[in-house]
Amino acid sequence: MGNMVFDAPAWPSLPVAQGGSYPVRRIFCVGRNYAAHAAEMGAEVDREAPFYFTKSPLALWPSGGSLPYPPGTSELHHEVELVAALGAAAFRATPEAAAGLVYGYAVGLDMTRRDLQARAKDKRRPWSTAKDFEGSAVIAPLSREFTPATQQITLSVDGKMRQQGLLSDMVWSLSELIADLSHYYHLGPGDLIMTGTPAGVGPVSPGAKLHGEIDGLPPLDLRITEPEG
Ligand code: MN
Repeated sequence: MGNMVFDAPAWPSLPVAQGGSYPVRRIFCVGRNYAAHAAEMGAEVDREAPFYFTKSPLALWPSGGSLPYPPGTSELHHEVELVAALGAAAFRATPEAAAGLVYGYAVGLDMTRRDLQARAKDKRRPWSTAKDFEGSAVIAPLSREFTPATQQITLSVDGKMRQQGLLSDMVWSLSELIADLSHYYHLGPGDLIMTGTPAGVGPVSPGAKLHGEIDGLPPLDLRITEPEG
């Protein structure tokens, strides 16, 4: 490594509730995976195939602390989601094989600059600045002791319930998502999948306290603070 022109930064990682750290390689996100959320966005679920966007590992932000209100937006939205962390390679996998490839699960927030996303949709431009920015992937500790089924997923802001759904309401199951993605990518350990958000997304302001829960997983907590000066 002696010829690196600057020191390679530490690899982003997530804490694991049972011990250790999980290095994050890629973050895949699923769009419109709960029918009620698609409807609130004025869209319909595409029953033919899921669709994806990505976030850089540098978008990761830990749960339990604070996030300065990000630059470039006046409409920062919360989207609470189940996150799956892969523990094995998958390429052209079947849904049956895909289910066994997950290392662990976490509660996550797909933070979104909704104003920029709306503008991008209008102009048929990509969503990158709306979805992939520092602090846009807030993820609680991973747990290895969890199996997604019919658990409740919720998000409250300042103690008031904003988002509520059941994991069983997902249009595309996790096995189907992993199998589908594996037809486009050589998936492997370090790849996260944020599986989409239930209805009730909305804006947050500096001072807001967000609390996300999925029954059986470590909860997520985040405080939004004033923007950087
Ligand atoms: Mn989302």
